[in-house]
Amino acid sequence: MRGLLSFGRGLHTLSNRQARRKAGIVGSQCGFCGTQSNSKPQPNFGLLFDIDGVLVRGRMPIPAAKRAFEKLVDSKGQFVVPVVFVTNAGNCLRQTKADQLSHILGVPITQDQVIMSHSPLRMFKKYHEKCVLVSGQGPVLEIAKNLGFNNVVSIDMLRESYPLLDMVDHNRRPKLPSSAVVIHPKVEAVILFGEPVRWETNLQLVIDILLTNGNLNGVHQTQNRPHLPLLTCNMDLMWMAEANSPRFGHGTFLVCLENIYKKITGKELKYEALMGKPSELTYHFAEYLIRSQAMERQWKLPITSLYAIGDNLMTDIYGANLYNRYLEERLRQNPKAVAKMAAATGSTTAVPQDEDIDNLWESELALPSATSCKSVLVCTGVYNPNAEVPSDANRSIKETVFHGHRDFRFDPLLVEPGHIVQDVAEAVDLIFEQEKFVPK
Ligand SMILES: [Mg+2]
Repeated sequence: MRGLLSFGRGLHTLSNRQARRKAGIVGSQCGFCGTQSNSKPQPNFGLLFDIDGVLVRGRMPIPAAKRAFEKLVDSKGQFVVPVVFVTNAGNCLRQTKADQLSHILGVPITQDQVIMSHSPLRMFKKYHEKCVLVSGQGPVLEIAKNLGFNNVVSIDMLRESYPLLDMVDHNRRPKLPSSAVVIHPKVEAVILFGEPVRWETNLQLVIDILLTNGNLNGVHQTQNRPHLPLLTCNMDLMWMAEANSPRFGHGTFLVCLENIYKKITGKELKYEALMGKPSELTYHFAEYLIRSQAMERQWKLPITSLYAIGDNLMTDIYGANLYNRYLEERLRQNPKAVAKMAAATGSTTAVPQDEDIDNLWESELALPSATSCKSVLVCTGVYNPNAEVPSDANRSIKETVFHGHRDFRFDPLLVEPGHIVQDVAEAVDLIFEQEKFVPK
């Protein structure tokens, strides 16, 4: 958990003024560091928003998103409840995503409100100085560097150095045999950020790296030995863009990689870590960010309820329900510790200082004040309420519904949403009603 230190520090340098400017809100007080008037209602709940299929479809904003966020900010552009955005996207920096959201929603969003699927990689400090191969698209080298990795090679860099390896596309094959032009250090771990552009190239070179133990000058070895550590973000099989039907996500790429590896070696591909929704770690981050926002605003009530709004049963709903199960189990086993944490969170003196954060990550991530995480499913994305259901319910669950990752166990209770609403504006109305919260 030590590796979380730098990420934690970022929470306390909120660049709200900048975000407000980008959102077109000028001349008013900053979002989370202003003094809270006692006359305003104070929330004891926080909201986790998925982005694709909830707020946007591809690049197009979903109309209900703007209506929803008009309800979530006051006349000064300040949020009236803690809000975080939890996305499995991984092809840009948190600041870039915050800027996009500010523009789309017309309210100021800071990077400290955004959790990308790769954010937990800050924890994996033992790999930060090792040579890691990164796969994905977008500014993968910059993202890796921003996460703390100092010795990074990309698929494109390897392809340039070893041009004889990528042979699927006949038009991109080298005209003449060539030798390696740059000698890279031996790769010691592989990070899969998200789906690449040229799947055949990345599948080939990732398999090559795994089977040569990181040395592309060598030949494939398929004997019985563990492969290099594989750190993977975003398990979404599909996602919803502008098209009528869902599009391939990184989970589909992983299905290809897992099956190719197994076909060649006869063994299962193993993951050192799987990040992004529905992994529990992602929700621990979200809960911590929500609690930090409440503390910054000096809201005295502890944040006891979380609501996760999403469009995907296998990521948003499964993840929220899995985290809720953890919170309920924790409450059942140790109600006194939970009450103590909730009381501490409500204290106005609880805003942590930088020097305390090293300890905080270890203690606070493990000690949420929340006691429930309710899932809310919207119908503007992947989930289709009108989809045909096969007559055999068993087949329906196994073949139609379960799009989760290979390493996540299917449990019908975890894909059961707490609420189903039409869109995100309805979701906000429902939550305010449930919480009897009337913002002024
Ligand atoms: Mg989504």
